[in-house]
Amino acid sequence: MISEMMERLQEVLIFLFLAIFPKATGFKPCTKDSTSIDVGSAYCLSWRLGVEANNVRAWRTVPAQCFRYVETYMIGGQYDRDIGLIVEQILSYANQIYLSDDGMDAWILDVDDTCISNLLYYRGKRYGLVQRGFKVFLLTGRDQETLGQATLDNLQYQGFIGYERLILRTAAYKGQSAVTYKSQIRKQLEEEGYRVWGNVGDQWSDLQGEYLGNRTFKLPNPMYFVP
Ligand SMILES: [Mg+2]
Repeated sequence: MISEMMERLQEVLIFLFLAIFPKATGFKPCTKDSTSIDVGSAYCLSWRLGVEANNVRAWRTVPAQCFRYVETYMIGGQYDRDIGLIVEQILSYANQIYLSDDGMDAWILDVDDTCISNLLYYRGKRYGLVQRGFKVFLLTGRDQETLGQATLDNLQYQGFIGYERLILRTAAYKGQSAVTYKSQIRKQLEEEGYRVWGNVGDQWSDLQGEYLGNRTFKLPNPMYFVP
């Protein structure tokens, strides 16, 4: 209830901002004859689609003309709706899987912008993969030595419990790309005997390489790119 109220409040604030902005700045809104905003938004939509489809790669910053577009996308409700749709697909797929009783059916979730600060956690808590009987492995490129305890605390603070194992980057994997590092970890899990049914991440580098699992799910992230 509170999260719905907050989401509604965010939408109202954004609406008010968009309504007030032209008056405060003297900026004249577009008319049918002036399509500069429409063209700009259209470009940013194309850019975001290109990012999510992995056609735009190795980008370092959001294009300057798309700052406001990305901000509105992230906090204006569309990001939450996109996440919600993907979570529905994840759970629909997960519910179709016949689990063995050996406890070796597994999922892999990325951490930043997948588990942490994401609706996946809130929904997963109620209807999630753990309750369905999957062993959930959290796989992150965060450094174990410097961020291990903080990551555990953060997950605990957000109420993300019940997962099988949190896997952080140890010294042996320092300097490796995310694709190389995560592929090796997934290989180890398969060698332990786990059947990885799903692999979820907000970066393509979470979902590329080897031992990807039976199906991958890409969450949106137009804010940064991890190679
Ligand atoms: Mg991530």
